[in-house]
Amino acid sequence: MALPSLFSSDPEDFVQSFLQGGRDKSELLAKVDEGKNRAGIYKPISLETALDIMVSTMENPMGPETCSLKFNIAVGRFRQSIPEGGATKARRSLEAYPDVMRAIISFFTRKQSSADHAAMLDHLATCCCPRGDLEVFGSMHSTTPCVDKRIFLAEKGVFLDSTIGYLADCLIAILSNMTQGKFRQLKNHAGATRRQQPWPHGMDDLLPNGLADSVDGFNLWVGDKNSGHFILRLVGTIAQLYPIFGLEIVSRGPDYVLGLQRPVQHLINAMDAYDRRPEWWIPKKTDARFAIPVSYALNFIRQLYTGGSSQYTKMMVTGGKRILLPVLLRGIAVLSPPYMSFLFRDEFFHMNFLMSVINNRPNDGAFCTETLTDLEKQWFMELRNAHQGGCYNPTCVPKSGLVHAPKCSSCDLIRYCDAKCQKEAWRNQQLPHRTICPKIKSLRERLGPYIWARTVSPSPEFTYRDFMNACKKKKIDMELVKEVGLHISCLQGSQTLFRNQISS
Ligand SMILES: [Zn+2]
Ligand SMILES: [Zn+2]
Ligand SMILES: [Zn+2]
Repeated sequence: MALPSLFSSDPEDFVQSFLQGGRDKSELLAKVDEGKNRAGIYKPISLETALDIMVSTMENPMGPETCSLKFNIAVGRFRQSIPEGGATKARRSLEAYPDVMRAIISFFTRKQSSADHAAMLDHLATCCCPRGDLEVFGSMHSTTPCVDKRIFLAEKGVFLDSTIGYLADCLIAILSNMTQGKFRQLKNHAGATRRQQPWPHGMDDLLPNGLADSVDGFNLWVGDKNSGHFILRLVGTIAQLYPIFGLEIVSRGPDYVLGLQRPVQHLINAMDAYDRRPEWWIPKKTDARFAIPVSYALNFIRQLYTGGSSQYTKMMVTGGKRILLPVLLRGIAVLSPPYMSFLFRDEFFHMNFLMSVINNRPNDGAFCTETLTDLEKQWFMELRNAHQGGCYNPTCVPKSGLVHAPKCSSCDLIRYCDAKCQKEAWRNQQLPHRTICPKIKSLRERLGPYIWARTVSPSPEFTYRDFMNACKKKKIDMELVKEVGLHISCLQGSQTLFRNQISS
């Protein structure tokens, strides 16, 4: 799945997208202009100086000379030397700096208490640089030598969002052409020092702070509201390439933060940003406050899930019911409008898929190969499942001794325990039956009694393919099928959530 990356996103877009975070637009644009006007006053720092500053800052972030602005300028200067537009080109240039990569991974996997981590960020954000030589101070603090507009944001303290994101992307770029479980070949020609060896040439080189401590170290960074999802993406990339690392994350138990709570928190933050969106905001794949966190967090969950760990599936079903399910229901609602589901179809698919995993219907999930067709198949399965039975009132308390739930007489599909459940479902707040009932009825009538009977019967003779052919022949709008299927799927999720809440 193609993911938006800092390498490809347009800086102007990036600046714009920060504005969704509630930052003041005019103030921010004034800063950008101020930076532009100062262009040319100070001499840009050399690449050598930039590399020095970067490595020493990351190796010793509590050092007396560290300063986030200076660090930011250095990363900006480094960035200038790496060609953009094309991951392969960027990767090849980055490979020339194995030591910088080692410093980055070490920086991101440093285990410490969260108080120490916060103190470190504080220390970095405080500039104690000597101001004696204004020429030197200026070139290390003026935002102008760095062409990139993102760098202008440094003065707003946004450096973590962009610089940290860029550094994480550097590692991801290098790892992008690695084979699962394999490392880079060591150079054995005479004179090759350890520092010059390619990164990563072994497990110790990939995670120099060790498996367990790296999970704790990453966890600190991933917790950051604004830049954590960039690190989450890196963590997922490493877990996919080296499943042993993924297992280490999952082994921390059902509530372990990095595996589930952190990605969920990023999903929630993104939804919140979406809800607060200004009028002029049109969703785009490159939105740093919505699209990127959503896509990175979902992708991370998928990466751990497809790591083949049954433990993670268990984590999703137990912990997921409580914390992932509510955000999935919310996310599906946000991504449902046609223009959104078209733009974010991978994300939309993932949310649907994860919900079916949490709803504990592994048979539905088994077909998952991540295409839109599979999603249509899921909607078909929802129709079939609904007809088979079970109460579809989202606020239904499980009752014992119920053999056959009666159907709604109007749509002839959705079943309820009794009149009480039917009444509650009709006027449910999020998913009222009164809105979907006429749509189900219309779908049933358009398909005709013959096809409808076969669609909802569990007979293996009438398959999803037959259903699709029938829809095509009868010119049925797939949007209608989607709306009905998705609604039923959400009813299930909503009921699971409700039952989970009352039992805890
Ligand atoms: Zn400084
Ligand atoms: Zn009905
Ligand atoms: Zn019921």
